[in-house]
Formats: sequence, C-alpha cells, structure tokens
Amino acid sequence: MRLKPEKMSSLRFKAINNLSSNVVTEKVKASARITGIFNENVFTLKTARHYLSDDAYKSLLASTLGGKKIDRSMGNNIANGLRAWAEEKGVTHFTHWFQPLTGLSAEKHDSFFTLKGDGTPIEEFEGAALIQQEPDASSFPSGGLRATFEARGYTAWDPSSPAFIMETGEGKTLCIPTIFVSYTGESLDTKTPLLKALVALDKAAVDVCQYFDKNVSKVAATLGWEQEYFVVDAGIAIARPDLLLTGRTVFGHAPAKGQQLEDHYFGAIPERVYAFMRDFEQESYRLGIPLRTRHNEVAPAQFECAPIYEETNLAVDHNTLLMDIMTRVAKRHNLLVLLHEKPFAGINGSGKHNNWSMSTDTGVNLLAPGKTPKTNLMFLTFFVNTIKAVHDYAELIRASIASAGNDHRLGANEAPPAIISIFIGKYLTDVLEQVEKRVGGNFDEQDEAILKLDIHKSIPELMLDNTDRNRTSPFAFTGNKFEFRAVGSSANCAGPMTTLNTIMAETLKHFKIEVDALIEKGEKKEVAIMQIIQKYIVESKKVLFEGDGYSDEWEKEAAKRGLPNVKTTPLALDAYSSAKAKKLFEDNKIYNHLELEARHEIMLEAYVKKVQIEARVMGDLATTLIIPAALKYQNILLENIKGLKDAGLEASAYSSQKTILTQLSEHINTISINVTKMIEARKKANEIANTREKAIAYCDDVKAPYFDLIRYHVDKLELMVDDSLWLLPKYREILFLR
Ligand code: ADP
Ligand code: MG
Repeated sequence: MRLKPEKMSSLRFKAINNLSSNVVTEKVKASARITGIFNENVFTLKTARHYLSDDAYKSLLASTLGGKKIDRSMGNNIANGLRAWAEEKGVTHFTHWFQPLTGLSAEKHDSFFTLKGDGTPIEEFEGAALIQQEPDASSFPSGGLRATFEARGYTAWDPSSPAFIMETGEGKTLCIPTIFVSYTGESLDTKTPLLKALVALDKAAVDVCQYFDKNVSKVAATLGWEQEYFVVDAGIAIARPDLLLTGRTVFGHAPAKGQQLEDHYFGAIPERVYAFMRDFEQESYRLGIPLRTRHNEVAPAQFECAPIYEETNLAVDHNTLLMDIMTRVAKRHNLLVLLHEKPFAGINGSGKHNNWSMSTDTGVNLLAPGKTPKTNLMFLTFFVNTIKAVHDYAELIRASIASAGNDHRLGANEAPPAIISIFIGKYLTDVLEQVEKRVGGNFDEQDEAILKLDIHKSIPELMLDNTDRNRTSPFAFTGNKFEFRAVGSSANCAGPMTTLNTIMAETLKHFKIEVDALIEKGEKKEVAIMQIIQKYIVESKKVLFEGDGYSDEWEKEAAKRGLPNVKTTPLALDAYSSAKAKKLFEDNKIYNHLELEARHEIMLEAYVKKVQIEARVMGDLATTLIIPAALKYQNILLENIKGLKDAGLEASAYSSQKTILTQLSEHINTISINVTKMIEARKKANEIANTREKAIAYCDDVKAPYFDLIRYHVDKLELMVDDSLWLLPKYREILFLR
C-alpha cells in the first residue's frame, strides 16, 4: 500500500511507526544491593579519612560539620587527596559545580593536566583551584548586579556538600559544589542565600532549644523532597515543538481516556519506564542520593520519586543533581522527562512537595510530638512558631514558589491554591483551641490538661485526616514535619527553603525576646512559654484551614479572613520589593537590598521570557501546522461537495459537509485573527522598559486574552480535521503509547 505523501513525511506518523524500535530493551545491569554502590562516586568523610593526612582530614571535618572556613594552608593537602581519589576512578577533569539564578546547575571543566615552567606535562590540582575559581560566567543572570559592581563572578567551595564524580558517557568529572558570588560579595546563585538562611535558623533555633535542653548546640533544617515528573517517548516529543521549546503542550485536546479512571495511580509501572527508573536510580545511588520510593502518579505517564530526607543544603544539591541525571539518563532510553509544572492541559500537573522539619544535634526532631510534658512543650513551641511564621510572611511564601509554570497549578483546582493556609489536623486543632481558651494565660508548669496529652499517640488520627482535605492544602502538618506542597516540580528547592528558614529564624528570634521579657518580670519559664504560644495562636490562627482548599467557598472565606490570594507570578513577586521583605532579609543577613532587588528583577525577566517563548511557539504552530492542515481538509470537503453537486445530488446530501466547512472557516478565522492580535500585544509589551510592568503586560495582555482562546479553537480543529492530515502528535499518543 502506498502511504499518502503527508503520512510519509509527517514526523508524527514516523514517530508512531518508530515507537517499538525506539524501546531500549538492553537490560540495566542491576546491582544486587544498593549499599554496594551507595556513595561510590562521593568524597565522603569516610573516603576522605582514607586519602587525607590527619591534619587535612581534621580541617575538612571542621569545615564540613562545624561550618568553619576552610583552612587555606590545608587547601593543597585536601586537593591532593581529592585528586588521588578521583584519578583512581579515571577522572581527568574537575569543575566547580554551582547553581546560578537560572535555577539549573552550571559547570566549567578544567583538566588536572598542566605544563610546568620547563614544559614538563603533569597532572595537578592545587588548593587554590579547589577553594576558588573565576568562571567566565557573564551570561548568567545577575539582575544587573555584576554590571553595577564588577564584571567578575567567583565560585567558592562549599565544604558542607561533598565533592562527587559525575559520569557523562565515558567522561568522568570531579565536581566541587560551590557558591557563586560577585567580586564585591553579592550572591549570584541560589546556594549562598540558602546557606545564610540555614545559619540564621540554626542560631535562632538553638537559642530557643536552650529553654528545654542545654545540650543542644546545633539545629539543622531537614528537607525531604518528592519529585513528580512525566515521561514521554522522545521520538513523539520531537514532533511536538511546543514540548521541546517550552516543556509543555500549548495545544492538544484531552484524550478520550484521561485520568478519570485513576487506574494509573500506584498501578504497575510500564516496563520501559521501569528500566529508565532503575537506570537513573543507580546513578543517583552512586552519587549518594538516598532515593527510596518510586510510584505512578494520578495522571497517565506521570511518576514520582522521593529520597530519605537530609540536611537541607545537601538535599537541595541532590534534587538539582537528580533533575540533571534524570534528563540525561532518559536520552539513553529514547525518553524525554518533563519537569514542567503543567505539561498537559486537563491532566494533573507536577509538584515538588518539600517536607521540612528541624533536628538537633542531640537527635531530636523538633516537629515530632513528644512523650512527656517537657518534650511536648518543645514540640508546641516549634509547631506554633512555624504557624506564626507562615502567617506573618504568607506573601513571601507565595512569592517563593511563583513561576510561569506554577501559575498553571496554583488555583487550578488540582494543586494547592494560591492562598497560603496551613492544615494541622483535627487533633492538633483541638490542642491549640485548648491553649487559646485558657483565659488570662494561667498555665502551670506541668500543665495537666494540655501537656500531658499523648500527642504522639494521637498522630495516627492525623494520618487518617491526611487524605483528601490535606491534599488541597499548600502547607500541611503530616505528623512529624510540615509538607510544603505548593512548590513547583521544576523549581530549585533553594528558593522556597531560603524563605521558609529565614521567616522561621525571624519568628523564633522574636519568640525568645518575648519569652525572656516575661521571665524577666518574674514569670516561670514554662508559663512564659505557654503564654507566648497562646499569644501566637491568637495572632495567627486565621491561616489555619482544615477544609477543602479547592472549593470556591474557601476563596470567599479566605478573602473574609484577609488572607492574600495572588494568582499570577508578576504580582506575587511584588512581595520581594516590600519594606517588610527588605527588613526581614537584611536583618537576617540573607540578602541586602541590592541582592533582593536583583532577584526580583531576574524572576520577572524569567517570567517574561517564558511567556514570550510560549506566545511565539503558539503563533508559529498555529500558522504553519494547524491552519494549513485545516485548509487541506477544507479542500477535501470542497472537492467532495463539488463532486456530489456535479453528480446531480440534492443540497441535502452534502449539508453536513457544508456545516463542517463553515465551522472550519470559523475556527481558522478566529485563530488567525487572534494570533495576529497576540503578536501585536507582544510587540507592545516588548516596548515596555520597566520589567515589572512588562511582566504584567505579558500576563494580562498577551497570555490572559489569547492563550486559552487560541487553544480552544485549535483543539476544536483537532477533533474535526482528518486525522491523517494532523501533524502534531495527539495527547493519546503522547500519554498512552509506551
Ligand atoms: P509518606 O508520607 O509517604 O508516608 P514519609 O512521611 O516517611 O512518607 O515521608 C515523606 C517524605 O517526607 C519523604 O521524602 C521523607 O524523606 C520526608 N521526611 C520524613 N521525615 C522528615 C523530616 N523529619 N524532615 C524532612 N523530611 C522528612
Ligand atoms: Mg507528599
């Protein structure tokens, strides 16, 4: 049989034909035990002990665990040990690995190889090169910072995250995790402010812990992220320029079978995806990423993985690395990983839940309810301070997760809404109500009624609650940690984690000041603590919400309570330029005003670029693929009508064809007219000099009036036009072909 020319040349049909040959059948070599490969490519302290002299090891230990500046005199020593280890593993190059404000990771490779003064070739790695580098990084976003100060940016070693070896194909590179700062010290990356926020939290939390346990000398914020993602066939994706260029489909009608059956959730993982998962998991284990769970998500072709939680800085590095590894490994399997928050309209989006808590160096999880009145009081202290922090800085929490991609999720009746609220479950709601009701704040030391409650035993009840209503909450207590659910799947966790830990540090600092003031006045310590807890509950309870976060009633109720509900990124980001934010970040030494303004600017720019690219892709596809296909189909119909007419048939014999013809014309016209209008709106927006106003114009004048409208008509055409003429792979092909 001869295929029609369109069929032969269409990427869509080629991709579908190639599907089975695309499947990588080669078995991933399975390692018997994860423990056998875990950390294989990481310069852990255990490995370091082996490769470093006593002094060098002690110096590294002090920097890694104690946050001490690396001792420069030990630099060469440590570098030599690192190189010896890496060379044994076949490494020839090293790089400073950092996370610039693009949200991705960056690296610039240098070889150990060099020439001595007399021309003798040697391999060396000097302490200076380990500790500091000056990458040519002028093309990374700086929000005008480097222009203002100095063109150079520096990377500096972060010893709290261990060096690792990245394998790409046959190449192996020693990666040194670093921060990235300007010549004058302004941060140009996501790690620097995160480290500062973690230091601020450590200090503030240790101070408060002293009320309960004098032995606590360090508090680390812990993070366990859950990464959601889609996996699609790479061949099919090539025929979808929108997926390749924007990470999401700008067109596409919902498939006849969607997620309504929910048969994908926890269902069997398709073999092809399973092979991919095992492959990227093995690489992750070698790099010390403690992945533990994998499963299907609600939507077809959607999956999730999650590690065991870690200290936050390391957890953030590991998530950044994982996104990299997944993307790379997928190529080997002819697959494409989609980390976008909303790749498919009408199908669940992807998030990255950030499970967060704090733990002490005495081994206590500060958000785990205790077994004695004393430990319960400590739990209540940190629990209520978190509620107060989120209440007081809800706008900043919202801003920390704002992005063009996440706008599709927040408030779109499937993801946590744009209103920041906290779910704590029925039991703890009751506990807080009891505390609140104690008129006059008369508590006694071992408060029978409140602190003797076996909160820890009642946690299973929380888990029962942990079903539907909890899912709709952007910030939910889940027994021994808070789950910040509104973070987008493609986000670097450093942003939300910097904000969360900073507001927590600030709140704890004030808590201590207020409690100390009462103690000064002669109040008993425990009673003073209870009184301030009570005060905080009263001040912040309006942020607590146990109902359905997706409901319209909640929007109304939240408005009544005066909770902010900012639905779009350009406006959500305004929180960064408020006097309150400037004071918060400056007081805690996270960002100075310039750094904060620069970040605000960069996030607005990123938004503009994303929407701009999407608008262009929409225009291009509509004009060059969609309308031509519809016109071809129209011609077929015209020929058909003409033929029937010539054969002498009554008009009623081709009335359906005429109806279709008219509808096609209407859709084609509407698309064409609105694409033109959208281009005009874009041109106008491009002329705006102020980035904030430009972002608002892209949101309100380009995206809002045209994206959904154009899409609506394109998707209607998809349902009408002869399937063999349609050039973009359809949802059913992207989502269900394995
Ligand atoms: P599930 O919710 O599936 O029952 P868990 O509650 O054990 O599983 O954990 C969900 C996520 O929360 C995991 O990524 C886990 O590492 C993380 N997590 C558990 N405890 C903490 C903690 N104390 N701090 C931060 N993250 C945590
Ligand atoms: Mg979760």
